[in-house]
Amino acid sequence: MKDNNCAYCTQGDLLDKFGYPVGKMDSGYLYIFKEQTKMGRVILAYEDHVSEIVDISDEERNRFFFDANKIAKAIHKIFSPSKVNYGMYGDTSCHLHMHIVPKYKGGDEWDSTFTMNPDKKYLSENDYEEIAKILRRELNISK
Ligand SMILES: [Zn+2]
Repeated sequence: MKDNNCAYCTQGDLLDKFGYPVGKMDSGYLYIFKEQTKMGRVILAYEDHVSEIVDISDEERNRFFFDANKIAKAIHKIFSPSKVNYGMYGDTSCHLHMHIVPKYKGGDEWDSTFTMNPDKKYLSENDYEEIAKILRRELNISK
């Protein structure tokens, strides 16, 4: 099921505004969140246009969380955050996705909930690609 007005379904201009493509996971697609105040922040978008985890089967949910766990492990290894936070909101986008957000002791918003978009730190396309390459290698996935 796809929605032509959804950033995650169309994977076009709408998504380019905030996400950089990393690669296909078993349950969906992984993006670097372009706003990188929390270095290593990514989004795992589920493969179908469903709103919440209650809309998928137990097996599908397990695949999604298995991938989220794999990604979090890779982020711990690559970026050495003090903690990883997880957020699933999407009040308006209605496409199941998870923000996987490394937090650093003494860093931005440590000991607090993360802002959806702090709009403070963006990288160059080259830097996004470098991070994407490292993630692809660690996760053994391709674009
Ligand atoms: Zn969608």
